[in-house]
Amino acid sequence: MTVAGGCRCGAVRYELAVDALPPVYACHCHQCQRWTGSAFSLQALVPEQALSISGPVEVYEKTTDDRTSTQRICGTCRSRLYNTNTRRPGVAVVRAGTLDDSERLDCRAHIYIAYKQDWVILPDGIPTFEEAAPAAEFLTILTRSW
Ligand SMILES: [Zn+2]
Ligand SMILES: [Zn+2]
Repeated sequence: MTVAGGCRCGAVRYELAVDALPPVYACHCHQCQRWTGSAFSLQALVPEQALSISGPVEVYEKTTDDRTSTQRICGTCRSRLYNTNTRRPGVAVVRAGTLDDSERLDCRAHIYIAYKQDWVILPDGIPTFEEAAPAAEFLTILTRSW
């Protein structure tokens, strides 16, 4: 099985060398609302080495207090595809809505729900966190039987 995805215009495509669609999480923080123009972002954590990308990729770097986030963006339509972060070397954070089969995603956690839109109703039985999730717990949730 190949997991693939791409940008809105089709100029940039990527493939993930993994066996199944990666589990995802939703982030409801203000930055994600701004950056997506939506209620939350949907993201998957994958090994950076499993990712291959082709097309006119551009890079945008954003440095905040203790980290630099490097965003990969389609140079034609400007869709954000994934980013890496100096605090989590080797991990790529894929914008899950860019996956080809994005209607079948398994959302396993909601973070920064302190900023969630009131009308977004979360399902029972899914871990939620007021702000960031503790790193080790978060990784366990996202990698369990994937
Ligand atoms: Zn594009
Ligand atoms: Zn966020």
